[in-house]
Amino acid sequence: MADELGIELHANTRIPDDYYMLSDAELDARILAAKAQLGEQVVLLGHHYQGARVVQWADFTGDSFKLAQLAVTKSTARYIVFCGVHFMAETADVLSPDGTSVILPDLGAGCSMADMADERQVDTCWSMLQERFPTTKIIPITYMNSTAALKAFCGENDGAVCTSSNAEGILNWAFARGEKVLFFPDQHLGRNTGYKMGIPLEQMVVYNPLFGDFECTDEQLENARIILWKGFCSVHQKFSVEQAQEVRSRYPGMKVIVHPECALDVVLAADHVGSTEYIIKMVEESPAGSQWAIGTEINLVHRLAETQKDKLILSLSGPNVCPCATMYRISPQHLCWALENLAEGRVVNQVKVAPDIRHWAGVALQRMLAITK
Ligand code: SF4
Repeated sequence: MADELGIELHANTRIPDDYYMLSDAELDARILAAKAQLGEQVVLLGHHYQGARVVQWADFTGDSFKLAQLAVTKSTARYIVFCGVHFMAETADVLSPDGTSVILPDLGAGCSMADMADERQVDTCWSMLQERFPTTKIIPITYMNSTAALKAFCGENDGAVCTSSNAEGILNWAFARGEKVLFFPDQHLGRNTGYKMGIPLEQMVVYNPLFGDFECTDEQLENARIILWKGFCSVHQKFSVEQAQEVRSRYPGMKVIVHPECALDVVLAADHVGSTEYIIKMVEESPAGSQWAIGTEINLVHRLAETQKDKLILSLSGPNVCPCATMYRISPQHLCWALENLAEGRVVNQVKVAPDIRHWAGVALQRMLAITK
């Protein structure tokens, strides 16, 4: 298959075995050469949760919100090679201009939380809510960690996308337009944000997509302001209050900082809560000698420990590390293979969102960017 410019298109999750025979030095040299040959035609975006051997090649790093902004502002390149997971590459494709190709070096790099909500399940929940509350304005809000199809659902139904750095602003925007919010797929980000805004816990109920039912009484649903999808991040849900107590007992000056994808009890036990960018800023700007136990993905914690050597930086989970397994799928071998193919005129593993979905997902994403300005 070829695109309109005659560039060959290929999709693959399995790369030639030869790439696995290369030494680290050989891989680095080949990535460097391919990147140099492509020059300004290519921009590499890397999520903070990538391993060091991949993120070292990124032209820009960020969390999902910052990378979405970069897809808009840095997309003069013909190719965006996205070192992240599938929903991020979809977002980059939606936000980048026509003619830009977005490449995910391993198409198997997904997000288990994003997989916890699909179109059919959201349609089912939405129909039940519309039937139950025909005169109530309900605003659908999806976390960035969701498929482009669900972002399009929000765009088409007067809703928006949010990230962990702007969820409160987006919920305020939603409540200025409607009485209830359907929030998917991460129950924890929705609950933590609602709680911070002063919404009582009893006014936040849970919808279970596996059973297609609300985990509450009719009266609780009637009074609910936020309907939370029963999804979670397997990495962040593992952090516990006991871990916070344990690390404080060992290091009396230790500050605990966690991501809002953690459960509410962990968030309440922490000293600070915020997005990945917030965590980085807090730690980097803290004085020498500061001590941090961080409740987020381990690659980021390792990177901060390496760059902030005048501080004590630990994972909140101690030696029982919790990596994001799907981010690890972007290996230096996949990156090398994708770049070398591009340098030879072959676009491999392009992520392209269908035009109708692209339109409405773009509406939801642009609403988020406009609200967050
Ligand atoms: S850390 Fe969790 S939410 Fe983030 S990409 Fe990995 S599985 Fe998804």
